[in-house]
Amino acid sequence: MFEDELEKLVAQRRLRHLRCIESGTGGVVTLNGRRVILMASNDYLGLANDARLKQAAITATERFGVGSGASRLISGTMAPHQLLEAALAKFKGAEAALVFGAGYLANIGLIPVLIGAGGLILADRLCHASLIDGCRLSGAELRVFRHGETAHLASLLAKRSARRPTLIVTDGVFSMDGDLAPLPDLVDLTERYGARLFVDDAHGTGVLGTHGRGTLEHFGLEERVPFHMGTLSKALGTSGAYVTGPESLIRYLVNTARSFIYTTAPPPSTAAAAQAALEIVQSDPGRRARLWKNRERLASGLAALGYRLAASRSAILPVLIGDTEKTVRLADRLLELGVYAPAIRPPTVPRGTSRIRLTVTSEHAVEHLDSVVAAFRQAGQEHGLI
Ligand code: PMP
Repeated sequence: MFEDELEKLVAQRRLRHLRCIESGTGGVVTLNGRRVILMASNDYLGLANDARLKQAAITATERFGVGSGASRLISGTMAPHQLLEAALAKFKGAEAALVFGAGYLANIGLIPVLIGAGGLILADRLCHASLIDGCRLSGAELRVFRHGETAHLASLLAKRSARRPTLIVTDGVFSMDGDLAPLPDLVDLTERYGARLFVDDAHGTGVLGTHGRGTLEHFGLEERVPFHMGTLSKALGTSGAYVTGPESLIRYLVNTARSFIYTTAPPPSTAAAAQAALEIVQSDPGRRARLWKNRERLASGLAALGYRLAASRSAILPVLIGDTEKTVRLADRLLELGVYAPAIRPPTVPRGTSRIRLTVTSEHAVEHLDSVVAAFRQAGQEHGLI
């Protein structure tokens, strides 16, 4: 039925397929019956398989059951949801928090609440797809500024009518490049032009900042950014997302965010596990220290081989190859050598910037990282890349 469309994707080397992991996620996983080093998970602190999170989920399941039974506003709000929201608000030093079923849902729900038809959205060109979809759903005019270029953003702000509601949208850590948004400048511009700023801190939450509060903590900007979102699905090892901010915003979202209202509440077990993760993020800074050490070891090993790394400042380490065909062949060879690190290609990233996107976790052993570098050496030499 869709054979022609699939053929087109094959011709463009864009056909993707699902690979099934046959074990829990972690530094090493089972894929097609083989143990391989996983360099593609966002479980940055190794919490997805942590015994304390599992126990929290089991205890909540025994007490509350497996499903929540309804959307949050009907009868789906259970104690674990409220406890998690209180814990998130406390962690972030915010008045209140609201949990969504996924980061994708949070973004497509939040942006249309923050701005509507007649408004203007100025979004970084490399914003995550869920942000772009949220922008489109809002009905506001969407314009993009060049990635990380605050001068371009400033010129767009200066050109608009000062009375026009304006929302600036950015990732905190860019998911495919691992670099950070120039948040100090973005906050300055937001204040100077009376705009609003919406930061998606999916990849900063739990890992950046001395206390793991994310990219805003990293830059010392928490006091100046009244609300933001992040996910529970990366460093927090579970699933879902949150927004923290003033109580009035949270109450307004409960009444207006369609992706919060018209969907079944997340399972109570997930909320309980996320709360357990939040406690570990706060009580065990050693995990963050190990993560950064691992990241440095891998980055310096790959750079020494002559690979071009993106300007990452996070646990996401993209190895830039450029050509899609070469990137796919490299990823296939790495997998044969025991390293699972998929090729990322258009449309996820711009044309000509295909890459192997490595993600490091605190739970990779030194031997894993050295094996990854060795596999890149062998595959790179075989394919004439280094
Ligand atoms: N924002 C960013 C920056 C992301 O990288 C992702 C997920 N990859 C999301 C939002 C969506 O989050 P979720 O996977 O929880 O839907």
